[in-house]
Amino acid sequence: METLEFQAEARQLLQLMVHSIYSNKDIFLRELISNASDALDKLRLAKLQDGLEADTSDLHIEIEVDAEKRTLTIRDNGIGMTREEVVDLIGTIAKSGTADLLAKLKEAKESPELIGQFGVGFYSTFMVADTVTLVTHKAGTEGHGTRWESAGEGTFTIDDAEGAPVGTTVTLQLRPKDEDDALYDYADVWKIKEIVKRYSDFIAFPIRMAAAVSPDASSEASSEASSEASSDAGAETPEMETLNSMKALWARPRSEVTDEEYHQFYRHISHDWTDPLEIINMKAEGTFEYEALLFIPARAPFDLFQREARRGLQLYVKRVFIMDDSKELIPDYLRFVKGVVDAADLSLNISREILQQDRHIQMIRRRLTKKVLSTIKDLMTSDPEKYATFWREFGRAVKEGLLSEPDNHQPILGIASFLTTTGTEPTTLAAYVERMKEGQEEIYFLTGESRSQVENSPHMEAFREQGYEVLILTDPVDEIWVDAVPEFDGKKLRSIARGSVDLKKDEPEPEPEGDFGPLLGFLKEKLDEQVKEVRLSHRLTTSAACLVSDANDVTPALEKMYRAMGQ
Ligand code: ADP
Ligand code: MG
Repeated sequence: METLEFQAEARQLLQLMVHSIYSNKDIFLRELISNASDALDKLRLAKLQDGLEADTSDLHIEIEVDAEKRTLTIRDNGIGMTREEVVDLIGTIAKSGTADLLAKLKEAKESPELIGQFGVGFYSTFMVADTVTLVTHKAGTEGHGTRWESAGEGTFTIDDAEGAPVGTTVTLQLRPKDEDDALYDYADVWKIKEIVKRYSDFIAFPIRMAAAVSPDASSEASSEASSEASSDAGAETPEMETLNSMKALWARPRSEVTDEEYHQFYRHISHDWTDPLEIINMKAEGTFEYEALLFIPARAPFDLFQREARRGLQLYVKRVFIMDDSKELIPDYLRFVKGVVDAADLSLNISREILQQDRHIQMIRRRLTKKVLSTIKDLMTSDPEKYATFWREFGRAVKEGLLSEPDNHQPILGIASFLTTTGTEPTTLAAYVERMKEGQEEIYFLTGESRSQVENSPHMEAFREQGYEVLILTDPVDEIWVDAVPEFDGKKLRSIARGSVDLKKDEPEPEPEGDFGPLLGFLKEKLDEQVKEVRLSHRLTTSAACLVSDANDVTPALEKMYRAMGQ
């Protein structure tokens, strides 16, 4: 037997778990079932794709409660783990953004919503258990399995486990029951049943409950046994009961699924504790069939702008899980969308490489994109408050689409909102166009680092004076997309910091030679290195001078950005 130390970050996370930061402890069971379900998916896939020899005829999850010993056991006959995998996967946190996660978890302490944004996974067992034991045997490996045990403090032990069957068994030694708090009695069959039903009903494998050891609990369990259990009678324990319905949520008509069911499923795939903002169902029949169930979250994940963050949808083929994080199914600028695509006509052997070139996948991606954009568009009128939330949380990401998807410029601009010199709330371009002054033909904007910087810019003076509304663009991405997008609804987008914006058509620009000739000459000579030209302008009302870029030059802010990027 070997005693090893948890990696520092894992230790910190465990600390938070032991001192139970979640107000809802029930979720530990959801996490264990979710891991078991993943392990079953993986075994089925390894058999399908890599030809692994394994018995997959009865993939299932089993729960056992022993009220006397106060133990709770969750067993699966899935892929299992090797000794190295146990040490790597359970002893460390390999996930990206862990440092951020920990910082935010600490900050959040008593706020379950924020904490719920992170999938704390296996470690959540330490909220309810004094000791956790995991025995596992990897499918396709000979010999013994591995036994892992920890009390959630600094160390864990690891040992060989003779005769362990393929799959994984996790046993929790539950904490002593708190007399004041019946809610937390996880050694109660009924409590467990209720939690499974609430959080894990849609899990695609049967979750079976073995009858409890204590006599009264076992008679309860058998009297409740479902028809599936009696058809199971050949199995050695006739009291087995299947707790979940196993229905694939995306295959069921929307009218038959409750919001609560959708929300639980969303939590399962997203690890986001907050209910989603919008649910999208899609079903395509005909030459290429697929079903999709998409969720637009109610808030941005902490790693929305981190390169290495997980993104993409889950891909199923005819109800068989194929892979997580399929980036090919949704464009990067909609990376916050979560969900499942179940395609009927793909090969079960499809790999990530093939996915990238597959025509059907590209078609699904186009359709999903269109559907997400039109759903947001509808929200603008049907539920402006939801729309405002959406744009606040995800607008910055969506605007990236203006760089990558020329075909979707107009739909993306159609769902965009911007601050302007009028009012304090963001406005849509359609509303801006509606308010345009008599004779105004272009949409004016100015980019900068902050609202106040933009509003106090000398470029703004003439526009303010004459009552023109100007878009205030302060996101870094704004600097870039404005160059890629020429117009909205037939109206040119025009930076008021570039070239000469002609506000007073009837008054010609003053003659440079006038009274100011010598002054302009003097300035030009003094600033020779810094500027291209010095000229008189109508655009200022109170400032004496301002810097203007040529129509084709980069803006000062963009110049700064390029410099920061080392270009
Ligand atoms: P996550 O599931 O988000 O990856 P967890 O902390 O829940 O994080 O689990 C960590 C890893 O441990 C999993 O990714 C998986 O590789 C492994 N693991 C956990 N439970 C099981 C299990 N029952 N069978 C096989 N592997 C498991
Ligand atoms: Mg997990």
